[in-house]
Amino acid sequence: MDPRRRPSIRRLVTAHCVLAALLPVLALLLLTLSDWLSHGSGQAPHLASPAAYLAWLLRERWPWLLAPILCAAIVLLLGLRLRRQIDRALRRLQEDLSSLVERQASAPLPRPEFSELEAISQPVNQLAASRATLAHDLEHLTQQLVDVQTHAILGQLAVGIAHDLNNPLATILGLASIIQTSDPDPVTRRDIEVIRRQAELSGQIVRSLLSFARRQKDTREWVSINELVRQTLELVAYEARVNRIRCETDLAPDLPLTWGEASPLQQVLFNLITNAIQAMAAHGRGNLRIETCWSPPGPAGMPGRITVRVIDDGPGIAEDVLPRLFEPYFTTRASSGGLGLGLSIASEIVRRHNGQIWAENNPSGGACFSFQLPVARQPEKGSGDTPRERYHRVLLADGDPQRQSQIAQILRRHGCSLTLAGDGLQARSRLDAGQFDLVVCQLDLGRLDGRELYAWARIHRPELAGRFVFVVDGDTTTEAEAFLHTTRAWVLAPPFHEEALLAALNQALYPPSTGSGADRLL
Ligand code: ADP
Repeated sequence: MDPRRRPSIRRLVTAHCVLAALLPVLALLLLTLSDWLSHGSGQAPHLASPAAYLAWLLRERWPWLLAPILCAAIVLLLGLRLRRQIDRALRRLQEDLSSLVERQASAPLPRPEFSELEAISQPVNQLAASRATLAHDLEHLTQQLVDVQTHAILGQLAVGIAHDLNNPLATILGLASIIQTSDPDPVTRRDIEVIRRQAELSGQIVRSLLSFARRQKDTREWVSINELVRQTLELVAYEARVNRIRCETDLAPDLPLTWGEASPLQQVLFNLITNAIQAMAAHGRGNLRIETCWSPPGPAGMPGRITVRVIDDGPGIAEDVLPRLFEPYFTTRASSGGLGLGLSIASEIVRRHNGQIWAENNPSGGACFSFQLPVARQPEKGSGDTPRERYHRVLLADGDPQRQSQIAQILRRHGCSLTLAGDGLQARSRLDAGQFDLVVCQLDLGRLDGRELYAWARIHRPELAGRFVFVVDGDTTTEAEAFLHTTRAWVLAPPFHEEALLAALNQALYPPSTGSGADRLL
């Protein structure tokens, strides 16, 4: 629409002023005309004609004429003044609004001249204030996005480095074994043993890191929460050590597997554990305890639940912080790079698994973060198997990190909960501390070989005596063959396929004589 045809305050005011000014003049004209007509023409010389009458009026009655003309002039002047005032107020408001838009300013507009215009300026001020808050939030979010991207890049770099570390570690381990077999003097042997153990530990950390990274894209599977706790503790072991934090676990040996996303669940543990370490690091020392426990299904179809508790003896959580902990971007560590995302992501992951997460302060000091997961059945199978029935606890003792990781991958895929050991002594202490259904063990294991481990197990863990699968390297000696023959243990000779591994494991777990085998790994 043409702007000139749209109503304008300016034109309206002008039109009304002119009309108002014309009214007294019009009234005068009407009065004069009726006066002249009522007296009739020709009776007096000044009524002889309208011109004579007008001349007479101007001469004799000029105050009469002056009053309405003065009125009209005053109305016109007042109208013009009013128009100027409205003009000025509107122009000022327009300028203030334009500068607000151009400068993206957030300061409120100056008070307008007319109270009615406040109806415009007030919402504009509110808008400007909320825009200022939005701009501040946007800046904050952009900064956080940059931080998240930096973390993601660092994560990728870490994975790349971890990957590249595998080769040098394999070389170190290989050379260490060669030197050990060359019968060195006792001091060198001890030093080489230290090198080997450290390299194995590094290998384990690298594997945990890589499996954490690789699982990012995977979907649901049977997950051992105890195994995830162990792997996560390996990942944070360095941070805990440099901050003088003692880590201990109390993991329920009968904890069933749960059907879930392994990597996100590990992320939950990782966030809770690193938070606890950071909280205690401020004190220069601390104790971290991770507990898992299992509540079996209750009456009325209540599913069984796994509860995980991450307990620290740090400063605890302030009362006013407790209700906000799981809010996105809530952090009390902004100065040290905290993003306030860890707990909100953790709660989202737990929620996705139909679980719950909560935090509380320990009566004795420090914080306790707990989460609970219902143990759901694998949806597509519906076979009636509860997860626990399909779950096998396997001790995997192998001094060859590459082979150990290969076997571990296969077993995890088939729902086993794994405990790893790099040599015989480690394996013995793990056997001593935990409950297992099966032992997969390298025959020529370092520090305490497979035969010695088996002999120990026969005395201290007799139920496992028939549940050993030995992995033999290359040619076996007659003595080794005699041992394998008398024990009737299951044997795997590399290179072997997944099927061969699973077949050996199934035979050890369900020897044909038992007739059982419903929970076979295959
Ligand atoms: P961020 O660690 O980046 O601050 P989080 O979401 O992981 O973000 O944690 C949010 C806040 O919860 C932290 O800033 C901290 O104040 C508090 N918090 C988390 N874990 C602990 C803990 N173990 N002890 C005390 N406070 C904690």
